[in-house]
Amino acid sequence: MSGIVHLVGAGPGDPGLMTRRSLELIASADAILYDRLIPPGALEGARPDAELRYVGKEPGAAALSQEETNALLVELARAGKRVVRLKGGDPFVFGRGGEEAEALAAAGVRFEVVPGVTAGVAAPAYAGIPVTHRDSASAVAFITGHEDPEKPGSALDWDALARFPGTLVFYMGIRQLPDIADRLVTAGRDPDEPAAVVERGTHPAQRTVVDTLAGIAARVEAEEIRPPAITLVGAVAELRETIAWLERRPLHGEVVAVTRARAQASGLAERLRELGAEVVETPAIRIEPRPVDGQLREAIDSIGEYALVCLTSPNGVQLLFDALEGGGRDARSLAGATVAAIGPGTTAELARHGIRADVVPERFVAEALVEALEHVEVEGRRVLVARAAEARSVLPDALRERGAEVDDVALYETVAEPLSDLQLAGLDRATYVTFTSSSTVRFLLESGARPPAGARVVSIGPVTSATAEEHGLTVDVEAERHDIDGLVDALKADAARRRVPA
Ligand code: SAH
Repeated sequence: MSGIVHLVGAGPGDPGLMTRRSLELIASADAILYDRLIPPGALEGARPDAELRYVGKEPGAAALSQEETNALLVELARAGKRVVRLKGGDPFVFGRGGEEAEALAAAGVRFEVVPGVTAGVAAPAYAGIPVTHRDSASAVAFITGHEDPEKPGSALDWDALARFPGTLVFYMGIRQLPDIADRLVTAGRDPDEPAAVVERGTHPAQRTVVDTLAGIAARVEAEEIRPPAITLVGAVAELRETIAWLERRPLHGEVVAVTRARAQASGLAERLRELGAEVVETPAIRIEPRPVDGQLREAIDSIGEYALVCLTSPNGVQLLFDALEGGGRDARSLAGATVAAIGPGTTAELARHGIRADVVPERFVAEALVEALEHVEVEGRRVLVARAAEARSVLPDALRERGAEVDDVALYETVAEPLSDLQLAGLDRATYVTFTSSSTVRFLLESGARPPAGARVVSIGPVTSATAEEHGLTVDVEAERHDIDGLVDALKADAARRRVPA
């Protein structure tokens, strides 16, 4: 099989801006040669056996020279490999993709180009600045602020740039910014023209400063703006005041650690990301289903005999139905029972299986379910409580006291999930650490990890808070509604309070 090289743009940083084609190619590549500025997680979809190689030019670090990279691309393709050359932004916009394509063409190697979203358009867009505008910018110029030091003189025609009738977008120029601004003004560009610098555009930590062309360099220095950053000069920079959106989202700039099991984390993570937070997934626990034998097998065999079935988590519902299915049964075997559920996630999971819960307490703790069940006749009847192995005994105890014959059946166990170094580093940057159950607290702390000093600890409810406090944590925020929505609302309200000092 003959090899091929795909020169692929990965976009400016937000993984959501990677193209569908780029993801397909990453998933099928034999080898991926990548740069520093690719989005976090961009390589997650790569094949486990793919050769991943960093060929970027870290300032000061020894990496491959451009010639060595070109040679490596040719060599891999000639060995029959499907190679992805993955670059930040667009491969042909200041990405040296042109040079690589020339080298491949010269060597007779087959190649394809996959454009990407370029930082010079995306970073301003995420800052609320359109690079063109019907009223104020009919043209846009992409300019390198960092020229090849080996080039004699300056390749940039400053007079022409000063006269350019539209928006100027500088890549790589943040260290040269004082010089760039000077040269433009000296060549006749209006010193009062609006200018903006966007640092880490499209990332959750994006920062933007706006000033005049004459003032922008001092502003950048005062705010300690660092590369990568895009500098934009033009009347459109003013539109930010009206159009800015990313940095106005309620959790912009917050780094929120989610400690739930990976399988349950996505809903919470998605809600937090939508509100502008950077989410670090640090799953402290994993759900381990119990094998269907012993007590669980007996419960399934006599499922029709229960007068009351209590479910306390979406996992529990899922696993109970798996077990029913395994026993050749379906939702109809619960037809005669009263079904009680704690929490909207549990109710929703039941609904997915065609069951509308009969009893749903307003608060999402076992004590509230005990109260809600007061009017359900249980004396002398069989009750199934199907849930986690380590669950508290409040509910079965209360039912037994009322004369019920309770089968407290463990469907799953919550076990510790060790955190990787990358996850621990993420946790260390967190400004909020969320706990959605006592087991997330227990397992995270018992693994030796801790919320970093200064991070706000968020708990889903009083039971989780008590466990956190037993483990020496101070709970800063406790949800009023003890579910995911309630937790997100409480976190959001806390962030708003801290942003606007009363
Ligand atoms: N091929 C890339 C550009 C590579 S040159 C593209 O099309 O976007 C590297 C420069 O791009 C950086 O010095 C910086 O000016 C800019 N850049 C890349 N990613 C950026 C980001 N997320 N935010 C701001 N500028 C970025």
